[in-house]
Amino acid sequence: MQRRNFLLTSMAGAAAATLAPTSLLASCAPEKVANTTPLNLCFQEGVTPGNTLQEKLDFIESLGVTGFEVGGRGLAGRVDELNNALKGRNIRLGAICAGFDGFILAEDGQKDDFDRTMREIIEAAGKLGSCGVIMVPAFNGQTPCRPHTMDTRNYLCEELHKLGEFALQCGTTVILEPLNRGECFYLRLVADAAAIARDADSKGVKCMGDFWHMKEETSDYAAFMAAGKDYLQHVHIASRGRRLTPGEDGEKDDYRDGFRALKELGYERFVSFECGCEGDRATVLTAAVELLRKQWEEA
Ligand code: MG
Repeated sequence: MQRRNFLLTSMAGAAAATLAPTSLLASCAPEKVANTTPLNLCFQEGVTPGNTLQEKLDFIESLGVTGFEVGGRGLAGRVDELNNALKGRNIRLGAICAGFDGFILAEDGQKDDFDRTMREIIEAAGKLGSCGVIMVPAFNGQTPCRPHTMDTRNYLCEELHKLGEFALQCGTTVILEPLNRGECFYLRLVADAAAIARDADSKGVKCMGDFWHMKEETSDYAAFMAAGKDYLQHVHIASRGRRLTPGEDGEKDDYRDGFRALKELGYERFVSFECGCEGDRATVLTAAVELLRKQWEEA
């Protein structure tokens, strides 16, 4: 553009700006788009009140909660029971919480126990349409355990690769859960779990965050953002002081920093209750659902 034309155009623009009513200028500013990512809540079986599976699912449905998380132990024998119970309901199975024998970093026969039982659970999880089976590489007390070395990390990634590929064949995944250093010093940050999942090089290996263990994180927001949508497959939640039901620890139970990340990521997987309870279970769960929906709106 020639200098003269440029000047004329600029002057015309300036004149228009001077004359334009304020409302017109405001409408030119980029609009803040409302985040419509839904909060999908889920209850673990042991958290849900009710004497039978049907009663538990009725309670979940009455709160508009759409997820149900069960333990992995004996899961193969429960596939038909669970699939039938969920038929016709607006409830899906969430993740499967552990339940295997042995552990993946064992130096003895416990590794074989892990391989056998974990694969049984993964197969059942696939038949139930579950998003994945939660696992921890090794709890602090589990022995004999491979040493915390680079070789062990490489070994873990190789073993997870095999497991992840098997899970994909079954239509599900394996989900690494970081805990706190008191329970599992080996894996305690969401970003580290995501990095191991990446290095395992299988789309069947994912990670999760548990708001209870995430008290070791410097930022809930950064932890979830570091994992990102590609790796973050599940979330656990509890109150932040004593691991009771969200809300039972009062002002400590602020999840908005983490929720903001989940909303920005467009995370539509489950936020699942894994927690104890001090008050009347039905009452505190009802209040917790209300609290979390409010904080999700505010995040
Ligand atoms: Mg957990």
